[in-house]
Amino acid sequence: MHKSRIEYVLYHLGLLVELEGVRGYIVFGDEAKADNKCIYFPVSVTDFDIKKVIYLEDDIPILFPVSDRFRYYKQEGGSIIFDHDLISSAFYLLSGLQEFDSETARPLNRYSWQDSIQKKLKITAKPVVNYYFEIIIEAIEKFCSLHDLRFRRKYPFKKPVLFMSHDIDRIKCYNFARFKMFLKKGKFFSALEVIFKMILRVKDPWWNFDYFINLEKQHEVKSAWFFLGKGIRHLDAYYSYQDKQISNVISKLQKAGHEIGLHGTIRSAYNSEELQKNLTELQGVSEHPIEGIRQHWLNYYPKETGEIHSQSGLMYDTSLGFHDHAGFRNSYCYPFKLYDFEQEKMQEIWELSLVVMDGSLFDYQKLSDQQARRFIGELKREIMKFNGIFTILVHNNFVGAMSRELRKQRKQFYKDLLKSLKKDGYVSYTGSDICNLIDRKE
Ligand SMILES: [Zn+2]
Repeated sequence: MHKSRIEYVLYHLGLLVELEGVRGYIVFGDEAKADNKCIYFPVSVTDFDIKKVIYLEDDIPILFPVSDRFRYYKQEGGSIIFDHDLISSAFYLLSGLQEFDSETARPLNRYSWQDSIQKKLKITAKPVVNYYFEIIIEAIEKFCSLHDLRFRRKYPFKKPVLFMSHDIDRIKCYNFARFKMFLKKGKFFSALEVIFKMILRVKDPWWNFDYFINLEKQHEVKSAWFFLGKGIRHLDAYYSYQDKQISNVISKLQKAGHEIGLHGTIRSAYNSEELQKNLTELQGVSEHPIEGIRQHWLNYYPKETGEIHSQSGLMYDTSLGFHDHAGFRNSYCYPFKLYDFEQEKMQEIWELSLVVMDGSLFDYQKLSDQQARRFIGELKREIMKFNGIFTILVHNNFVGAMSRELRKQRKQFYKDLLKSLKKDGYVSYTGSDICNLIDRKE
């Protein structure tokens, strides 16, 4: 295993526990060096093979087992000896190595949950890397108490964190393009409804910023709003940042304490000039620095997008969730950094992995209202075990459904979601708040 891959895992572990005092005792792979005072991690020399995966307690899979023992480690004399390669297992999941190995076609294909190891190993709803790190920290604590060394845990967050976000793709439900779209699909009544409401200038249900601002204020939620740039016609935004109504609403959101971020256009995921152009335009109408990005449609090309994001000077990305399934795409519920496999180094930018998107639950997984609530409950409880980050995306047009009945149901869904998170002790932070908290020097 490349040395900087080991360092990458230790960097993330080091955000959760002080490693300075024990770093000199940690030995990787070389059994000859595993004397009577060390923490020994075996390093697997074989490639990942799904048939070899074993499951330990809590149904946690070990991706790189190196023995047939069903335990994580043992204490032998003054040493802690791990039985399996947890470092490679953590690296594989956290860095998103599986995605680098797969070919994602341009411009519209995305890495699918259907192809993922999370689906195959049935760990989509479990932040497995957090579990690995807890085991390693427990072992470090044992080692420290054996040798009277200082042991100190670090807690990035004191409570579970809600990172609520909204992507603004479209702002007009009643317009000519939607009229044509319904006609094409043979939905004549919907087409007629759109055209009548356009003529009658009925209040557009997708322009619902006040609804969000008021409801979120009641539940002490500050969210991040990702505004889409101009790019490819009909795929990227119809609106522009300079439109008076957009720049006014951006200012209103910021005054209410919300964050404004960039929703990257289709091309911006592989073209840094387009990303820079949109970023400069959005910055021009924002009172605060733009620090976060989420790619439209969650487009992400592991060989290009991370590098482009890192060069942009943005502080975080929040594109990495499966578009077709809620859960943990990198099996981790804290902020983390991605890995540049070509240059063998950690990337600069933080990733705040997306856990739940409205469309994943209802359009792809096709869950009922009750099933969606149950699945969110499962994810919520996992995140609470670690005081991790629950990143949620709710679109303006999700709660602004055209049918009054559906609109009412979805507004209830959203309200209940905010209520239940608050009841469970979640605190709301924006993306830039979260990065500042994890970046602070202790
Ligand atoms: Zn979008």
